[in-house]
Amino acid sequence: MTPVTALYGRKASQGTNWITVIAMTGFHIGGVAAFFFIDRGAILAAIIMWAVAGMLGIGMGYHRLLTHRGYKTPKWVEYFLTLCGTLALEGGPIFWVATHRIHHQYSDKEGDPHSPREGTYWAHMGWIFTGKAMHHDTEVLRRYVPDLSKDRFHVALTTWHWVPQVVVGLAFLAFGGIPYVMWAVFFRTSVGLHATWAVNSATHLWGSRRFKTRDDSTNNWLVALFTFGEGWHNNHHAHPVSMRHGLAWYEIDLNYIGIKTLKFLGLAWDLKEATLPKDVSEVAQESDDAVDISDASPAMGELADAR
Ligand SMILES: [Zn+2]
Ligand SMILES: [Zn+2]
Repeated sequence: MTPVTALYGRKASQGTNWITVIAMTGFHIGGVAAFFFIDRGAILAAIIMWAVAGMLGIGMGYHRLLTHRGYKTPKWVEYFLTLCGTLALEGGPIFWVATHRIHHQYSDKEGDPHSPREGTYWAHMGWIFTGKAMHHDTEVLRRYVPDLSKDRFHVALTTWHWVPQVVVGLAFLAFGGIPYVMWAVFFRTSVGLHATWAVNSATHLWGSRRFKTRDDSTNNWLVALFTFGEGWHNNHHAHPVSMRHGLAWYEIDLNYIGIKTLKFLGLAWDLKEATLPKDVSEVAQESDDAVDISDASPAMGELADAR
C-alpha cells in the first residue's frame, strides 16, 4: 500500500483509470510539442479557446450556472455554455456537477473527492488518475444531480463529452494545420486543466482566508488569474450560490463580468450576488451559515431565492 505523504495520498493505491491517464499524457506531450510549432495565429487561437473553455464553459457554465444555479439563462444559452465546458476535457456536465456538489458537501472531510489533506498531488490530479471518484454510479448521479439527469441534452453530452473536442480539433486541422491543433487543442487544454486543478489543490492550501469556513479554502490571486476568477475560492465556499466570487474591487473576477454581460444582453437574470460584510464580526457570522449544504446547490435543498 502507498504510504500517506504530503504529496501522495492513501487513496492513490485504489486502481488506475487507464483511459484518463493515456488521454492526459497524450495532451501533455502534445502541449510540450507545441513549442516546436510556433505560430502567431495558432497561439492567438489558443488564447481564445482558453477563454471559451475555461471562462464560458467551466467558470460561467459548469460551475456557476449548472452546479450552483447562481443565475438563470434561456435553455439555449445553458446548452451553449455546457458545450463550451466540454472543450476543457474535464468530463461531461453531470459527472462534473456531481463531483463538485460532493466537494461542497464534504469539503476537506472524509468523502471529499479531492482534498489536499489526502496529499497535494492527489488533490491536483491524482484523484482523476486513480481512485473511485471517476466512477460515480447512476444512483449517485441521480441523487446529486437530479436536475440535469432529467435533461436529455445533458445526459447525452455527459456520455459524448469528448466529441465537441474532436470536432473542434478537426476544424483547426482543416483551418490552420498542425500548429493550430498543437496550440489551440493540446497546449490550451493542458494549461486549462492545471488551472482548474489548482482550484482543488492550491486554493485549499495557499492564500488568505477572509471567511472562517469549516474547510481549508483560500483566496489566491494567482489561481484567480488563471481561472477567470475561480481562485477567490474562500469567498466561494462561504457563499456557494453567489455567481460573484471576487467580492472586493481588487478581486478581479472575469466570470462575474461575463455573467453581468449576459445580463446586459438580456440573456441572464435572477443573479445571486454576495456582498462583502461591513465588519469582521459579520464575517464570522456569515461563515457559520455558509457551511449549510442547502446553500451550495439546488440538489441539496431549496435554492435560497429569498435571501
Ligand atoms: Zn473547494
Ligand atoms: Zn463550487
